[in-house]
Amino acid sequence: MPQRKFKCVEGCSECCTIAPVYRDVWEKVTETFRPVVKVIDAPPIHGLRPAVFPITEDGICPLLTLEGKCSIYGSRHEVCKKFGLTKDAPCMFLRVNGETRTKKETETIRALWQERENQFFKGVKR
Ligand code: SF4
Ligand code: SF4
Repeated sequence: MPQRKFKCVEGCSECCTIAPVYRDVWEKVTETFRPVVKVIDAPPIHGLRPAVFPITEDGICPLLTLEGKCSIYGSRHEVCKKFGLTKDAPCMFLRVNGETRTKKETETIRALWQERENQFFKGVKR
């Protein structure tokens, strides 16, 4: 059976939370869609340009518009582009091959991301 291609759930932006933004892109941003309380350096990723994490009070990416669209879509970080396509960054709704996850899988992955977020914010005072 042919593999389904990964295609995001229409209108979904659940993974647009803490994400790196290339520093050069961030420096040109003129509008954010929620207040940024802090900007911290992202750990370097081999082969990629330096990046930052813009931190918001509610943990949602400040570059996500109120309509749920990425305002820097063409310039977004590789991490955003590849989200859901690797086992290290699993989408909570879709498997890597694009199949819909079971409810149980969704719950497990949601909990995993919540835990990663909690770890991230340990020591990052907002
Ligand atoms: S990768 Fe998954 S969680 Fe992120 S927008 Fe696409 S469907 Fe939603
Ligand atoms: S930069 Fe764009 S794709 Fe990445 S988390 Fe923010 S809104 Fe989502």
